[in-house]
Amino acid sequence: MLLAEPRGFCAGVEMAIKALSWMVRAFDPPVYCYHEIVHNRIVVDRFRDLGVVFVDSIDEVPAGAPLMLSAHGSAPEVVQAAREQDRFVVNAVCPLVTKVHHEAKTRAAKGYTVLYVGHHGHDEAEGTLAVAPESIRLLEHEGDLDDAGTTVGDPTKVALLAQTTLSLNDWKDVMLQARERFPDLWTASRNDLCFATTNRQSALTAIATEADAVVVIGSANSSNTIALAKVAREAGCQLVLRIDGPDELDLDGLGGARIVGVTAGASAPEELVQSVIAKLAPTDGVESVRVTDEDEYFPPPRELREIVPALDALVAFALGGDPQLARDMGGPFAEDRAVAASRVLVDLGHPASAYTR
Ligand code: SF4
Repeated sequence: MLLAEPRGFCAGVEMAIKALSWMVRAFDPPVYCYHEIVHNRIVVDRFRDLGVVFVDSIDEVPAGAPLMLSAHGSAPEVVQAAREQDRFVVNAVCPLVTKVHHEAKTRAAKGYTVLYVGHHGHDEAEGTLAVAPESIRLLEHEGDLDDAGTTVGDPTKVALLAQTTLSLNDWKDVMLQARERFPDLWTASRNDLCFATTNRQSALTAIATEADAVVVIGSANSSNTIALAKVAREAGCQLVLRIDGPDELDLDGLGGARIVGVTAGASAPEELVQSVIAKLAPTDGVESVRVTDEDEYFPPPRELREIVPALDALVAFALGGDPQLARDMGGPFAEDRAVAASRVLVDLGHPASAYTR
C-alpha cells in the first residue's frame, strides 16, 4: 500500500471543526450552522448527533441563537442577515477563501470583468459569485469561456479567479485559453488553488503512477475529493474508487490490484483512513509517500477568541477558581495548534475531552 502525504484535513478544515466543537461546548443545543461545516458526511453526522442543526437559509435560525458560518465562505448578504436579530455568529470561513473574495471585490471595483472557474451550486462558488454579482461570470464547462467572453466590456480588464479546490490541470487548461483570448489577463500571482489542494494532488500523483488502484476517501459533494479522483485518473491509474468510508469499500471491486494507493480529501478525518487501511489489510505493509511537510495553521475565528476566554473565566469564577490564573496560563486556546481536529472528532461526546468538557 502507498499512502499519500499530505492527505486529509487541511488547516481550514481543522480550524472550522475545532471552532464548531467550541460552539457545542459553549452553548446549549441547538447550535446552528449555515451550510455543512465541511463537505464530509461523517463529520456532519457527528455534529448533528451533538445537537447542531445545519441550515441552508438564515431564515431557519431563530433570533438570539448561536450560529456558525461554514468554512466555504458565505455571501455578503448572508453574513449580514446572520448578524441581525442578536444572534451570536462565528464566521469559520477559511482565510484562503476570504482572499479570493477580496480579489473578486477589488477587481470588480477597478472595472474588471471577473471570470471565475468553479462548480455551479457549490457553497464556495456561490459565496464568491455573490461578492460582485454584476461583474463575475462563472466558468464551469468547456464553451463557457466563449459565452462569457462575449459579455466582456474592456478586453484589457479581465481577471481570472478560481475555486480553491480545483484540479490543477483543469485550472491550467482554462487559464491558458483565457490568456490566449485576453493577453492582459489578471490572475493571482500563483493562482487561487490553495496549498492544501495542490499538496494533496502532488502527493496523489506521486503514488497514482505506481499503483494498480487508488482509493480516494471523501464525500461526493466535496470538490477537492472529486478533483483528487480526477487527478489519479489523469496520472494514468485505471482503477479509482471514491468512497465515504470503509463501509463503501468493495474489496472485490479492486480487481486483484497488487499495489493500492490511498489518500483522503481535505475534509475527510484520519480515523476513516485508518479504518480503510485496516479493511484493506495490506500484506506487505504501508509505505508513506510524502511530497512536502505542511505546517499551516489558522487560529480560531475572531468571534470565538473574544467570547470563549470570557466564558472560561466566568466558569472558573463560579467554581471558585481564579479567572486571572486561567488567562495567565494562555487561555483556552493555548493548546489549539497542538490539538488535531481528528482527535477532537473522536473525542466529541466524551465529557472528558478538552473540547467538550
Ligand atoms: S481546502 Fe484550502 S481553501 Fe478549502 S478550507 Fe482547506 S485550506 Fe481552506
